[in-house]
Amino acid sequence: MNSERKPGFATLAVHAGQEPDPTTGAIMTPVFMTSTYVQEAPAKTKGYDYSRSHNPTRTALERNLAALEGGRHGLAFASGMAAIHCVLNLLQSGDHVIAGNDLYGGTYRLLRTLYAKFGLETTFVDLTDLGQLEAAFRPSTRLVMLETPTNPLLRCCDLAAIAARCRQRGVLSMADNTFATPWLQNPLALGCDIVAHSTTKYLGGHSDVVGGALIVDDDALHQKLMHFQNSCGGTPGPMDCFLVLRGTKTLHVRMQRHCENAMAVARWLEADPRVARVIYPGLPSHANHALAMRQMRAGGGMVSVELRASVEQAKQVCSSVRVFSLAESLGGVESLVDHPASMTHASIPAEERRRAGLADGLIRLSVGIEDGDDLIADLDRALRILK
Ligand SMILES: *Cc1c(COP(=O)(O)O)cnc(C)c1O
Repeated sequence: MNSERKPGFATLAVHAGQEPDPTTGAIMTPVFMTSTYVQEAPAKTKGYDYSRSHNPTRTALERNLAALEGGRHGLAFASGMAAIHCVLNLLQSGDHVIAGNDLYGGTYRLLRTLYAKFGLETTFVDLTDLGQLEAAFRPSTRLVMLETPTNPLLRCCDLAAIAARCRQRGVLSMADNTFATPWLQNPLALGCDIVAHSTTKYLGGHSDVVGGALIVDDDALHQKLMHFQNSCGGTPGPMDCFLVLRGTKTLHVRMQRHCENAMAVARWLEADPRVARVIYPGLPSHANHALAMRQMRAGGGMVSVELRASVEQAKQVCSSVRVFSLAESLGGVESLVDHPASMTHASIPAEERRRAGLADGLIRLSVGIEDGDDLIADLDRALRILK
């Protein structure tokens, strides 16, 4: 690539980390289905000795993801949870973590059911309130874990302000950027130390692979994380790396369409009397709209909707869609609908769920890249059961 000009996001998405295969000229990075590598002499390698430690397909993906997040180092994992688990390995017994109070359920579970028993203490706070963050710091605090926008209420917290408060105290900050993607927002540029991703979602983008990633800028931090990546072994296979790498080539194009469709769906829903509330960071009615527009390029592909509906009615709406599919997960090209009260958040008791803002009639849409008009027509038809 031309060194006089810093390549833009789209050029990086298509090319970063990838060179034509030197032996054949293959333009696509080969899927290196190998566990080991022949050495010319003991310990004389071409940079690869065993595929848990390194694999060329994974190297290409790690470099590509690093470039997209504007960091120097990428690390790929077998799942988003394996990536987040790797970050927690930086800590030790007696350390304190501050985490958002509406973190991804799997991250919450990892902190509460695994790390708690090793003596790691976690305080869960509303990170949209900087006062709560400030009050939670202790001398033993080592890490702040955040997500923005969150799931499923799409609350946005101030990446730059949180990162600055962590830096002042020498505390690491980790931003799970799964919902926003690097096309919309770059936490490293705003001062965060670690970006985490479930590449299962928008980065893979086609609902055909489970994966995770970490991106950091700091060399020493990268060395530590790489040590745990190799020690714990939660690394992805080469085929999975290939699929994510194919996904990131079109990330910018898909995200534009996801955002466009999500905005159209959100606007249409907001004008509908069967809807009590639309939650979408791109709408001026969103509680953190100004902040979201400051740190994100657009509103993203996720829309949450509070229907004027009971649990049963909301379930019925979710079962009557035809273009949308009823499923967990998000970020693929196809549109999905989820009913948190009976699916992703069903394990939370009803009262507690309502107190946390998860109304019985709340549905979460992962708006895909189909024709926006078809998505709206599908919702319109499914909502007819409400009247
Ligand atoms: C899905 C998800 C994860 C977990 O990723 P897996 O690939 O399912 O392990 C973590 N954080 C967020 C925000 C997610 O949406």
